[in-house]
Amino acid sequence: MRARAAIALACLVVALGACQQRTADVDQRRIEAADSEPQNWLTHGRTYGEERFSPLDTINTDNASQLGLAWSYELRAPRAAEATPIVVDGVMYVTSAWSMVYALNAATGEELWVYDPEVPRERGASACCDVGNRGVAVWRGRVYVATIDGRLIALDARDGSVAWESVTVDQTKPYTITGAPRVANGLVFIGNGGAEYGVRGYVSAYDARNGSLRWRFYTTPNPRGVDNAASDAVREAALATWNPDAGAWLESGGGGTAWDALVYDADQNVLWIGVGNGSPWNRDVRSPTIEGRNNDNLYLSSVVAVDATTGEYKCHYQETPGETWDYTATQPIILTRLTIEGQERQVLLHAPKNGFFYVIDRTDCGLISAGSIATQTWATGVDMETGRPIENPDARYAVNTSIVLPSPFGAHNWHPMSMSPETGLVYIPVQEIAQDYAQDSEFVYRPGRWNTGTAHAALPDDRAARAAVRNSLKGFLLAWDPVNQREAWRVELPGAWNGGTLATAGGLVFQGTVDGHFGAYNAETGERLWYVDNGAATLGGPVSYAVDGEQYVATLASYGSVFFLAAGFAAPREGDNLNGRVNVYKIGGTATLPPRDFVRAETPEPPVIRASAQVLAHGTTVYGQFCNVCHGGGVVSGGALPDLRRSATLADADAWRATVHGGRTEAGMPDFTQWVSASDAEAIRVYVAREAQALYRQEQARR
Ligand code: CA
Repeated sequence: MRARAAIALACLVVALGACQQRTADVDQRRIEAADSEPQNWLTHGRTYGEERFSPLDTINTDNASQLGLAWSYELRAPRAAEATPIVVDGVMYVTSAWSMVYALNAATGEELWVYDPEVPRERGASACCDVGNRGVAVWRGRVYVATIDGRLIALDARDGSVAWESVTVDQTKPYTITGAPRVANGLVFIGNGGAEYGVRGYVSAYDARNGSLRWRFYTTPNPRGVDNAASDAVREAALATWNPDAGAWLESGGGGTAWDALVYDADQNVLWIGVGNGSPWNRDVRSPTIEGRNNDNLYLSSVVAVDATTGEYKCHYQETPGETWDYTATQPIILTRLTIEGQERQVLLHAPKNGFFYVIDRTDCGLISAGSIATQTWATGVDMETGRPIENPDARYAVNTSIVLPSPFGAHNWHPMSMSPETGLVYIPVQEIAQDYAQDSEFVYRPGRWNTGTAHAALPDDRAARAAVRNSLKGFLLAWDPVNQREAWRVELPGAWNGGTLATAGGLVFQGTVDGHFGAYNAETGERLWYVDNGAATLGGPVSYAVDGEQYVATLASYGSVFFLAAGFAAPREGDNLNGRVNVYKIGGTATLPPRDFVRAETPEPPVIRASAQVLAHGTTVYGQFCNVCHGGGVVSGGALPDLRRSATLADADAWRATVHGGRTEAGMPDFTQWVSASDAEAIRVYVAREAQALYRQEQARR
């Protein structure tokens, strides 16, 4: 009898053990107690508050210089690798371009499974900012990923098989999803992107068990009626801040896409939504101002709190009222507590594109303080009485061209910031890039294409002037004191568009750079303690975890993201079609990155095409309208997509036109027939050939 009881007890223990070891068995309790298992990185920002602080300290200021590569894994896709890896009980879940998911042994990099959602490649043409993905969520044995074509998919964490799939967008519209889902209380939250092309933003909550829609909150009002959504309750209030009768928003939906920050507030059971820019950007085109009527365009460029269970509106703070510069407020949000004037406050920390650093009260969305973390020409400060920015009226480019800082790349973009409770500092990848804005006097709304309502000058012809533009881009790692709204230290970085940060209990801050390095800094002083070649641009949020007591730091490296598509600057190192990588470091690691086998073929001698100055000018304009955002400003490819100056097709007018009229859908290039006429295509060819000649001469001179 006693023996039988003992056996039964043993079975029970075994069964419990098996139960506890279910793959990726993450739930509310575990995430809320994330500090009790510092070896894991259970959710996007490690904790629900997304501070991106690792309590691990085996790697610290004393030994960081001994870091070396533990392993490197080649993703199965080139282009943007932007994910924050999730690590649960020795398994890493990470994504690559085209929303592909990988489960890897976190100690060795051994591939456990790969899931490819087989996104139709023509969807890439609707992605303003490349086809990257910022990661998965894990919950109760499942891995959740959202795809470029707008699906939310639940995978079995054991083998990557599909448990369910829900289409979250109208796939006839240019919606894309690049953001990571979040999960709380059994609901999966997901937003979307596409405001540059013309969509209406919203956030949805799905039942994690079966993918059924539980609530939806639209971030802009429906001018025609209710949506039968949680946001209906604030439709009137939001509509009162738009032109109800005129403007491109009536067709586009107004934008306000929530493509990155969705942060669950466990103190308030609230979901914080970072809302994107207007569609089109230009408010005069989007929602023409009516004398005497508010034209703030809620809830663009705002942080909005909604009840996480029902989607019911709680409160909001609009960071850029009447947004007109692509000033999204989608940037990563940190929820924490700060002692301000002797009082502990539940706060939200935010550094959106517009260059301010906001401390916001989580209980009522009240503005506590706003500091300036980068050069701003659009505003001189925030009026603490009204909570509104003090604008420079010229910045609205109503009549003249305005040169404005920050640019649409933002003073801070999606690259995550982190915070250390030990130093009290927030570590922010900051940049200073100027942008010229002017009214697009010929604006017509083109469904499905780039619709900003703004005009921008082409890059200067003069090569020295172009180099000067490039050299004017500044990037730095900023340590910011959020209580006193004061800089603690900064480290200048090589150029703009650098990576997200990670703070650790080892007194370190980790960050990657646009030119493919990865470094560790003293969190107190900014002293650089370690710096290595990480192979390619290192942009996403690094994470730290441990397996069997060994601490690791993981990064992603690739050439991709909007900067490498649109900015018009060649990749710092040639990287066309190189797959992204997961590179993981530990103390004493001795692995090496594979040598770069990429050898650029010699640029074919471009054709000399006789054409009038008018045709050349027209080609420059049409290129700017349709080609620029993927193939690069000034026809300079950042390495993610083909450099048209080196295209073999350039010499053949018929083949060139056939590519424009037909596209290369397998590569993500749409058919431009409905927007670009045969003579437009030829004018583009004239312009590209002119740029190709300049490149060819440059290369020949260097030989
Ligand atoms: Ca945008």
